[in-house]
Amino acid sequence: MTRVPYLSARLQGFGTTVFAEMSALAVATGSVNLGQGFPDYPGPPEVLDVARAAIGTAADQYPPGPGIPELRAAVAEHHGRFTGLAYDPADEVLVTAGATEALTAALLALLDPGDEVVVFEPMYDSYAAAVAMAGGVVRPVTLRPPPSGEGRWTFDPEELRAAATPRTKLLLLNTPHNPTGKVFTREELATLAALAISHELLVLTDEVYEHLVFDGAHHVSMAALPGMRERTLVVGSAGKTFNVTGWKIGWICGPAPLVSAVRTAKQFLTYVNGGPLQPAVAAGLALPDAYFTAVAQDLQYRRDVLVRGLAEAGLPVISPEATYFATVDVRPVQPDGDGLTFCRALPARAGVVAVPTVVFYDPAHAHLGRHLVRFAFCKSDEVLGEAVERLRRLG
Ligand SMILES: *Cc1c(COP(=O)(O)O)cnc(C)c1O
Repeated sequence: MTRVPYLSARLQGFGTTVFAEMSALAVATGSVNLGQGFPDYPGPPEVLDVARAAIGTAADQYPPGPGIPELRAAVAEHHGRFTGLAYDPADEVLVTAGATEALTAALLALLDPGDEVVVFEPMYDSYAAAVAMAGGVVRPVTLRPPPSGEGRWTFDPEELRAAATPRTKLLLLNTPHNPTGKVFTREELATLAALAISHELLVLTDEVYEHLVFDGAHHVSMAALPGMRERTLVVGSAGKTFNVTGWKIGWICGPAPLVSAVRTAKQFLTYVNGGPLQPAVAAGLALPDAYFTAVAQDLQYRRDVLVRGLAEAGLPVISPEATYFATVDVRPVQPDGDGLTFCRALPARAGVVAVPTVVFYDPAHAHLGRHLVRFAFCKSDEVLGEAVERLRRLG
């Protein structure tokens, strides 16, 4: 790997992201951008109107460090309603600058240099960088795609157990999972819980896609398993649930001493953020169950449109159980089987942009994701329709 000038040793290897390259390529070529995962349709008016009304009021000033009381209460109520877990808004809920800050602050707060973090790959791109910033070491466990394309992503429990060492401090989990669209089952979570208990690990679980689950698949919070609440920090975010990814309002919930540790790091990262957006997210979290069911149904329909289009374009597609993303195997349409090469050429071949899944793997295991590519389907009917039409050119 070439050394990037000025960049600290901790951050060597995190210099450039393929997202920036692909988004620039989309703009330069007029391609349909199914790379980055953000919706191109607005959030619910019940949420947006509260934010508009809050601007120009006292809500524009610094909110309280842990977040406004209404939002902390709404996060706790929402947890109780959907996961059955009770959190005290006073000291078990912390509002953060998106899930990203919650995760980074937790890792900075909990890890000492050399502490190891067990995490599934492919993994969300901020994880490895945040662990590195905290001086920790990533121990990746590979999720394997279903061999025929039909079926679920799985992991080998032996591989998981082998990844834990006496230096392991924390298990970093993401369910529903980006980029695979996997929802961890209760049985899989029980395997993880057993490891956490036997190795006395803390668990940090990123559940930002908790509501975006399809086909009757069921999200189970890791904190809801027996013996887990006391050692688990659960991260959530408004971005994905309310179509407001630019707002960066997230939260982290857990036992008071763990949340207090996270707050110590968080107060010196951003201190606070999004004053007028916090009451709006509180209103969103209080929406009736029907809202949360409807977002999932709407996204399931978009998933079906894209999955059908990809299959018709000759790409074997692994239909996701949740999230914004579908994964394809490019080998039938890309003779060298290289997803990165495929993505770089896709704008010229078909006028569409996607992201090579290889970037979500630990560099040592990159070969395992070489043939995979991620497409986002959180897009309007027109955009998805145009993308599907263009992808036919691959045939
Ligand atoms: C989008 C995403 C995030 C980031 O959430 P923010 O609230 O925007 O910081 C975190 N984790 C995963 C898995 C994501 O897909």
